[in-house]
Amino acid sequence: MVSNLYLKCDICEKITNLKYQMGFINHHPIRFKCKCGVTLNGERNEKGIHFKNAKQLSTEEIKRLNLKQISQIISISPEFLTNPPSSVYDAFDTMPISPFIRTTIEIENYEEYRMEFQRILTYKSDGLQLVKNCNDLYEAKNKKALENVVRRDMRMSAQHFPMENDADELRIMLYVNQSQYMNEIGKDHLLQAQEIFSKAVKDHKYQVVGLALLLNRVGNLNRWQRDTVKLQQRIMDNVEYLLPVIGVNYYKSTNAILKSARVITTASFEDVKSLYVDLYEHICRTMGLVAGLDNIFTRGDFRILRNDSTNIFKGRVLEGLITESVHGKIVNYISDLEPCEKLIGKYLDKDVRNGIGHFSYDAHEVANTYGQIINFIDAKDKTKCTNRSLKEICYYIWQMYKSLAVIYELIYRFQILILGLKGITPSSLKIVGTNTELKSRTYRNMIKISPNDICPCGSGMKYKKCCGRRLN
Ligand SMILES: [Zn+2]
Ligand SMILES: [Zn+2]
Repeated sequence: MVSNLYLKCDICEKITNLKYQMGFINHHPIRFKCKCGVTLNGERNEKGIHFKNAKQLSTEEIKRLNLKQISQIISISPEFLTNPPSSVYDAFDTMPISPFIRTTIEIENYEEYRMEFQRILTYKSDGLQLVKNCNDLYEAKNKKALENVVRRDMRMSAQHFPMENDADELRIMLYVNQSQYMNEIGKDHLLQAQEIFSKAVKDHKYQVVGLALLLNRVGNLNRWQRDTVKLQQRIMDNVEYLLPVIGVNYYKSTNAILKSARVITTASFEDVKSLYVDLYEHICRTMGLVAGLDNIFTRGDFRILRNDSTNIFKGRVLEGLITESVHGKIVNYISDLEPCEKLIGKYLDKDVRNGIGHFSYDAHEVANTYGQIINFIDAKDKTKCTNRSLKEICYYIWQMYKSLAVIYELIYRFQILILGLKGITPSSLKIVGTNTELKSRTYRNMIKISPNDICPCGSGMKYKKCCGRRLN
């Protein structure tokens, strides 16, 4: 069902005819540009639709309305991409199809798409707060309360999820946080990460141990884990901005829909830009996880980076990449041809990132695109510029959210390995869901490092003077 609303902009008093597509989401933002250039900032909640900088016309005012007074017509939907605003003449010339009808025609499997939506909204309404509670208690190191909450609210039994040591606790937190992906949202990412890690352990045990030690020595696995969780929660808190792009993958051609003229009416660039930057930075910061695994798979040594022309890391070894603070270099390095990098690197768009986050770039909305096209200009070289649509940026954010499943999974695996080197292993290795846990004997085989051995992390020092000491 589509309802008609008439809005008068507080700034210019121009009137926009809003065709609001009712959906199954009752609480969401509404954003679109008035003809004057101001972003009209609205919200639908249980009380209806309200705008901070525009007023709805009353029934009496609508009766008196002359068509000539309407400056534009726009379809609004919390769930679908819609057509760009049109002038009154256009809209009355052709009978517009509602975004809902249009989407059901264009999407290959509408039922599956609708279920994905339902899963996201259900996770947000029923799961997210419980997950936040667990993360807060984990961070506060309140083990007693955490155990109570996971048993009572998350229904994780002591039999399948004992909590006797740090490894058990990490495993519980993995399950708590990854539950959002076990429900099909990004499940493929999760399975691929598990598969890659298991394969690496099976074929290159010692290399994986070395990588874990290096990540522990120069990276920060615990902080990465915390940051991953925070970002996952932030995306879910703000997911209403992104809902119209979630369906993009269900169209016959993702690319065609991303390059189409359709618009997103739940977010403005201002609403989402910091999400984009923070995800991008986090993924760059943790890139050592996948780059190290790719080094193992394709070059047989976790330290050795691909020897190509863009490689400018110190000594061309992984340590240089992990400690690199210029993230543009990392994005230049990663390749879609590497088995692990392609899982998370695909949606890192350097031009967009620079446009949003660097002062050397200037990002602004292109005039007459209803705020839907963003132009990124290099401040040093004005000839260098690039355009992205707002829906593309939102789509990248959603894809990066899914790749957090890979990042979390790998962080966990390396954290568990480090604990294993300290002699702490999960007390139950029962298989839960799709999660293929490392077998206990694998741990035992992996962790034979004598104090006088050269440290597997690649420092060149003796284990007892390097990571061996760090772990004690
Ligand atoms: Zn206006
Ligand atoms: Zn070491």
